[in-house]
Amino acid sequence: MKLIYFFDEYIKPFFMRGKKIANPADTGIIGNGVSCIREYDVNMWFYTKDGITIAFDAGHFNYPKIKQEFAKIGLDGREIQHLFLTHADVDHAGGIDIAGRNIFPNARVYLGKREEAYLTGKMHRLQRLGFKIKNDVRIARGYQLLEDKQVIQIDSIRVQVLDIPGHTIGHCCYLVDDKILISGDCLAINETGGYSFFDFFTQYPELNKKALQRLKKWVKKKNPEMICTGHSGCHKDVLSCFNHIAESAVFSKRKPFDKNAPYDLFNQ
Ligand SMILES: [Zn+2]
Repeated sequence: MKLIYFFDEYIKPFFMRGKKIANPADTGIIGNGVSCIREYDVNMWFYTKDGITIAFDAGHFNYPKIKQEFAKIGLDGREIQHLFLTHADVDHAGGIDIAGRNIFPNARVYLGKREEAYLTGKMHRLQRLGFKIKNDVRIARGYQLLEDKQVIQIDSIRVQVLDIPGHTIGHCCYLVDDKILISGDCLAINETGGYSFFDFFTQYPELNKKALQRLKKWVKKKNPEMICTGHSGCHKDVLSCFNHIAESAVFSKRKPFDKNAPYDLFNQ
């Protein structure tokens, strides 16, 4: 097994238990064209308009209950023709790794241009105790790399790319039809509002904070109706999601991040 998947499957659930780091939305139809699937601690998001559904992120590697989760929202992964990745981490891109079951076998894949450095092994993802750990996710060639502010038009759906690096070097957010912001892992949000995502999981925390200032300006200008995050569910009070972005979110067993989050997300 690839090292990063070992971390994702065995170390992370143990490490996260009781710390209430993540509070994803349960699988379901949210409204406004938005629906989501929860895989343990993470959400993937879908946007449907005029009979077309596009996807954001692909979840964990070989998530065992994916068929049931798709059925709950009346979707089939094989019908998705466009998949936007916020970043290439195992819990966001593992679902399309060529070593596993591809949950979106017919989708064209889009991701930020600098994110490719992980997929080709040019760049490490984490450094712990002096060891450089690589992101071993590998996806099929043919993906499209995105530039900041680029707009991808899929029939009547408009997706604008926002380059928000920090969590990973090529992390992107997506503004969909000027009303839904898919934020990936730049923000961690609890009942007091949003923080810069946890340093432990963020490769460049200071860069993330800087990028969040830029994202906040965008949000003020565009005023989207909803922010859909990787690990903190979705939020309609969008400005409060930027309340504490100069600070990193922190957690411990004694001081859980989100008191409303489940104790153990991995017993789903
Ligand atoms: Zn994540």
